[in-house]
Amino acid sequence: MRRPALTCPRDDMDHPREECGVFGVIGVPDAARFTALGLHALQHRGQEAAGICAFSPEAGFNLERRLGYVRDSFTDPAVIAALPGNLAMGHVRYSTAGSKGHTAIRDVQPLFAEFAMGGCAIAHNGNLTNAESLRRELIDRGSIFQSGSDTECIIHLMARSIQRSIPERMKDALRRVEGAFSVIAMTRSQLIGVRDPMGVRPLVLGRIGAGWALASETCALDIIGAEHVRDIEPGEMVLISESGVESFRPFNPARPRFCIFEYVYFSRPDSVIGGRSVYETRRNIGVELAREAPVDADIVCPVPDSGTPAAIGFAQESGIPFAMGIIRNQYVGRTFIEPTAEIRNMGVRLKLNVNRAIIAGKRVCLVDDSVVRGTTSTKIRDMVRDAGAREVHFRIASPPTAWPCFYGVDTPEREKLLAARMSEAEMGRHLGVDSLRFISLDGLYRACGEAGRDPAQPQFCDACFSGDYPVPPSDAVETGRIRLKERA
Ligand code: AMP
Repeated sequence: MRRPALTCPRDDMDHPREECGVFGVIGVPDAARFTALGLHALQHRGQEAAGICAFSPEAGFNLERRLGYVRDSFTDPAVIAALPGNLAMGHVRYSTAGSKGHTAIRDVQPLFAEFAMGGCAIAHNGNLTNAESLRRELIDRGSIFQSGSDTECIIHLMARSIQRSIPERMKDALRRVEGAFSVIAMTRSQLIGVRDPMGVRPLVLGRIGAGWALASETCALDIIGAEHVRDIEPGEMVLISESGVESFRPFNPARPRFCIFEYVYFSRPDSVIGGRSVYETRRNIGVELAREAPVDADIVCPVPDSGTPAAIGFAQESGIPFAMGIIRNQYVGRTFIEPTAEIRNMGVRLKLNVNRAIIAGKRVCLVDDSVVRGTTSTKIRDMVRDAGAREVHFRIASPPTAWPCFYGVDTPEREKLLAARMSEAEMGRHLGVDSLRFISLDGLYRACGEAGRDPAQPQFCDACFSGDYPVPPSDAVETGRIRLKERA
């Protein structure tokens, strides 16, 4: 049954979908400075805006939220000086749909709320699949929303809880939300970390001197010299105070379904997630891909940077020389983040250039991590052909992306996904290349250390490839944005 239209129309909601990074630290002097460094290491997870909240008994809670890169604002000593204290947390944000390319400052996290029992800042990586219906319900019951962010639902649910402490209210609130969430929050004396029952997004715990840190990825612990203690478990909540870490299990247990796309693309290769090196996993993908889809070529070239580890694996397994046939300009962000097609198209050339001396006259095998709309591959094909390549082959280090993600990785709507409209062979013809092959889903699972994909109980969330959504994307189904696959 369709519910009535949203009280707050979707177009007015600035950011229905988000990709983000979170970081927090407790028990170290100048916690905000460490947080700025941690966020800088997580910049790949969100480049539109960043925010830091810090607490000191003398200065209370202070919050700075800015648009742009972390380095644009949080290297300024005056900004850091305005965030005193031994407890701080922050967020980097990346959003597209609905925002029309502009992040409003009111949507930048951490969000802060003053409850009867004290202040609380909260930041979230992931996406709540029932945020729209929750928002409608909360507005109908009198909540006044200040942002378009789904994270704000958590604050209003906490405000309505009858529990007496912030962590208990947070448990109540998070039991009502669905989808993917790795949440960091802070009170005057505690840093809180929570992962959803399936652990779709990463969250790790680190030790730094006498203090503790929480971060989306281990690369953010490295930058501050923290030791990686362990991953926060799926469904776990940790309460960290200066006296130590307490662990709780507030949710009904579920089978873990970590996002496999974090290994393919989203996480940094120097991070370790779930005990697996992201770099090694990507290299393994290249090895599997070379076995599944061999090619007769003179050189293997990565589409940098995200295709590089897989291209190394592909070259090692196939024995074809690895070459940097495409060079990336390190001073531009990821092209995909640009919201309009024109800027995205131009962005590929701003970011990548062909190394003619390497490419001319060769049969080139290009390895990229994924094909989404096909924009990047089309541009690269042209650039490589123009540089005089004799043949152009594409090997893709993920299965065809045929379904949108509703758990915090931004993907376009289904119709815009090339693989939703075409078979592998059709995509190859459409892209006009000599051959195009994707790794199989089983091959991807093998690269991630599994024997293969267990179809009855898949070990990862692979919805973007399989259409098998572990949490029903209820808002999207209800509003007709997606039609789910018929189950066998
Ligand atoms: P497209 O040009 O639309 O086919 O996008 C494919 C390229 O975008 C790949 O080379 C990836 O490196 C990159 N990419 C894939 N998924 C994402 C994502 N969710 N966010 C940002 N970049 C992405």
